[in-house]
Amino acid sequence: MSHRPIYLDNHATTPMDERVLTAMLPYFTEYFGNPASISHAYGWEAEAAVKQARNTLADAIHATPEEIVFTSGATEANNLAIKGVAEAYFNKGRHIITVQTEHSAVLDPCRYLQNLGFEITFLPVQPDGLIDLTELEKAIRPDTILVSVMAANNEIGVLQPLAEIGTICHENKVLFHTDAAQAIGKIPLDVQAMNIDLMSLTAHKVYGPKGIGVLYVRRRNPRVKVAPQIQGGGHERGMRSGTLYTPQIVGFAKAVALALEELESESERLLDLRSHLWTTLSQVGRIYFNGHPTQRLSGNLNISVEGVDGAALILGLQSVAAVSSGSACSSATVAPSHVLLALGHSESLAYASIRFGIGRFNTIEEIDKVGKQAIATIQSLRLGNREWGVGSGE
Ligand SMILES: *Cc1c(COP(=O)(O)O)cnc(C)c1O
Repeated sequence: MSHRPIYLDNHATTPMDERVLTAMLPYFTEYFGNPASISHAYGWEAEAAVKQARNTLADAIHATPEEIVFTSGATEANNLAIKGVAEAYFNKGRHIITVQTEHSAVLDPCRYLQNLGFEITFLPVQPDGLIDLTELEKAIRPDTILVSVMAANNEIGVLQPLAEIGTICHENKVLFHTDAAQAIGKIPLDVQAMNIDLMSLTAHKVYGPKGIGVLYVRRRNPRVKVAPQIQGGGHERGMRSGTLYTPQIVGFAKAVALALEELESESERLLDLRSHLWTTLSQVGRIYFNGHPTQRLSGNLNISVEGVDGAALILGLQSVAAVSSGSACSSATVAPSHVLLALGHSESLAYASIRFGIGRFNTIEEIDKVGKQAIATIQSLRLGNREWGVGSGE
């Protein structure tokens, strides 16, 4: 087998856990029925599996099973939440608040609505990546229908203060949506305690399969309406039609159950690995830790290195480690990260960034190897950089 680099891009996607695959397998072949087939045993078997998975996922976020709407992933869940609320509440108001550092699956639906006549406030963030709660309060208007703030950032791992945001939204009677694609299974999520009205989830960032997600839609206090964006057989209480994908749903629930069982010990372990990597890397000097130092996902390390182009560093590390500069969705375009620019970074420091996404299957030996290789690569890139190199007075 050919040698593959160490996988450190766990914010883009995660490998599927073998235990998840084992749980899914019978539902491809033996229990293949359509969960909507109510007239025979094949349908009942699939429907029972979906029901159990729905319960598991609801429990994981302190919701009820009726509040779980299956989608194809977090992109679709975000679209359903934002466009669905806009369409259902436009008679009440046409103002939506979101944040500059959101994933494109939130920003793009908001921009789309802007073209249709909605007003969107894109809140800035502080240099640590957190929103300013007083700025949020000031932005809320009588015609505001929705606030959408992500739980955990996919580039810099920063955790927004969900409970505080929820309280502000609740007091102002504005719906609160959060994109929790990076957060599920990594930090505790409680839609009751945090006053969350809508929440997007996905399986493939938490060692589950790709192609399955959830939109949580609150049913009580208040009863939230979302206009369907995909219509057909009326599945998922009319909010999202289409035959349910039983194996993926079973896999999603298994992945979340496993992650919650291991949440505390795993986040401690990841924190140790991240600290080790940062301690190693910081020895090269003039290197910056992006995002809040503690309010962040334990597996995330995002750095900017002075005198080094991020793309060159990623290329230099390529044979040893699979890493990226941030959002996988924007990596086809060579533009500085919109997240790092929102932190107030110069374009050159935003270009000089690299994201290490440490995950369940990484070991301390791997982290050690990558850290050492990264230092060697940074040093050699700096030597080749005229403005930086020897003799420049550094
Ligand atoms: C990965 C990701 C998405 C997209 O999720 P898919 O399930 O791949 O559609 C949305 N938001 C955030 C924050 C993500 O990290």
